[in-house]
Amino acid sequence: MSALTPMQRRPAPVHYSEVNGVPHGAPAVSGGELTAMLRDASFYDRPDTRSAKAAHMAVVSSHLTTRVGGQLGALAAACDPSSIMLCDDLPLDAHDVAKTARCHRRACEALFAASERQHSDLEHIRSYYRLEQRIGVRVGLGLRVRHDGHPGVIIDTHGQYLVLRRDGENYTVTVHATSGMEYEGPDGWVPAVPLPDPYAAV
Ligand SMILES: [Zn+2]
Repeated sequence: MSALTPMQRRPAPVHYSEVNGVPHGAPAVSGGELTAMLRDASFYDRPDTRSAKAAHMAVVSSHLTTRVGGQLGALAAACDPSSIMLCDDLPLDAHDVAKTARCHRRACEALFAASERQHSDLEHIRSYYRLEQRIGVRVGLGLRVRHDGHPGVIIDTHGQYLVLRRDGENYTVTVHATSGMEYEGPDGWVPAVPLPDPYAAV
């Protein structure tokens, strides 16, 4: 068995505004893709303005400690989730953050790399299968799905395939976007419809 990817090692990704009760280390997403954020320096007496400029990959943290009180955020930097609190009022599309503006510590760098790969895969999946236009579902990380009837969540992409973690299981499965899939859309569960066979229309 191959080594686990950075996404497989972590709890399922969640929307950055819905982190209550979410396990420590879960990556935060916005718009169905990984999000990066700037350090929240507001509660330091003397903010470190040099490192404050780097964007970190956002993960849920239950290990943050506050020194001066005030509202304690639940999002932290992947590279140091116990001590770098992030400013969650400015979620950035991670794949879009300039390389010079990124944190290059190992855990952040791994998730930045994942965000670029996933963005490319998701753009392809969205434009090829057109699920948003056909069934009203925008495919992305953290989306609830059922695969062959088993509920789970999209945790990653693999080329033109989606990587799921089914509820109650810790391994992942790689699936085709329209085969045996249902998606939780804005109006409830909808089955994915395979693309029409181009030869059938002739
Ligand atoms: Zn970092």
